[in-house]
Amino acid sequence: MYDVTAIRADFPILSRTINDKPLVYLDSGASAQKPQVVIDAITLAYSHEYANVHRGLHTLSNIATEKYEDVRTIIARFLGVADEGQIILNSGTTEGINMVAYGWAMPRMQAGDEIVLSVMEHHANIVPWHFLRERQGVALKWVDVDATGALETQKVIEAITPKTKLIAITQVSNVLGTKVDIKAICDAARMQGVPVLVDGSQGAVHMPVNVDDLGCDFYAITGHKLYGPSGSGAIYVNKDRLAEMRPFMGGGDMIREVSKDEVTYNDPPMKFEAGTPGIVQTIGFGVALEYMMGIGMEAIAAHEDDLCAYAQSRLSGLNWLNVQGSTADKAAIFSFTMEGAAHAHDISTILDKKGVAVRAGHHCAGPLMDHLGVSATCRASFGMYNTRDEVDVLIDALELAHDLFA
Ligand code: PMP
Repeated sequence: MYDVTAIRADFPILSRTINDKPLVYLDSGASAQKPQVVIDAITLAYSHEYANVHRGLHTLSNIATEKYEDVRTIIARFLGVADEGQIILNSGTTEGINMVAYGWAMPRMQAGDEIVLSVMEHHANIVPWHFLRERQGVALKWVDVDATGALETQKVIEAITPKTKLIAITQVSNVLGTKVDIKAICDAARMQGVPVLVDGSQGAVHMPVNVDDLGCDFYAITGHKLYGPSGSGAIYVNKDRLAEMRPFMGGGDMIREVSKDEVTYNDPPMKFEAGTPGIVQTIGFGVALEYMMGIGMEAIAAHEDDLCAYAQSRLSGLNWLNVQGSTADKAAIFSFTMEGAAHAHDISTILDKKGVAVRAGHHCAGPLMDHLGVSATCRASFGMYNTRDEVDVLIDALELAHDLFA
């Protein structure tokens, strides 16, 4: 049975108060809190097991290297990838997508080539493609969501033309919570020879992921949303794309030999990992993923689905609240504005007085904000440790904000 009380006890920060109220943390979509096992692993690494990785032959370097490299295996298991050589460790999704843009897409794309994106993408999965538009004349083709916030798979498939060189798409919207049918998109794209990059920053948090089964070419994740440290992350790159990709950053670790006249590169995945990495962050990331897998991704998803349905029904009862998107096929992420024109920042300030942490702003999703016709929303995003009681606290705090601003 899913024991949310026991899970909450694993996260020390959840027992603190904010403005003399118990913390209700509904900002996991921005960054999740960390369980004690992750905090302990970081402390242990720095206090007993720290040295640089890969280059040393001394005991500490060997311990650090082993622990660091183990994380590649853990991530492969977490993502259902058979070959851990296809996992490139990095600092997060932003780095992962930029690596693909510079190392794979730039050398392969020319003026007139097309990249298909959904209107829900985070700036991390937009701006690197704008670089290609600005510098190489690549066209960005946008697929809208419907009035419920759902993305029709067929619309993505219809956007593919003979000029399409990549589909870059999120698995879950960080604003609406909308889930995208990645497998169906990959199946259709493969038949037309179009690679698919999946932004898994939100998706991998809320549902079990099996990348081999999805059939995508790239799948990016970020450690701090997966209950691990910030500055950790990874991207899965399938064998074919790995062979095509050029190194994005040059430096130590990614080389085999360097002379005045030439350089030869290490084999993948090391070829794509330049310089001293986030050693301790990555070790902590591995512990966070083990923690999630210990609870079980199916169990986490079921708990969050229940929270999502409950929050959706309670929020829809507030007729002065404009909740963006009404699709039921979503993760527990809700964006809203309030009638009476209280600004999102004002609402979040009132909620904070009640101990409720939500995010306010454009959520790094400019095209979606334009599509929705809003400049900012408040966003409540739930994680594995949230409860129905916390949904009730959110509703009470929203009612208070409405009373103040109405
Ligand atoms: N994509 C999505 C959908 C996100 O929610 C985020 C984080 N807000 C990112 C990409 C970027 O992740 P990071 O800043 O950790 O690189």
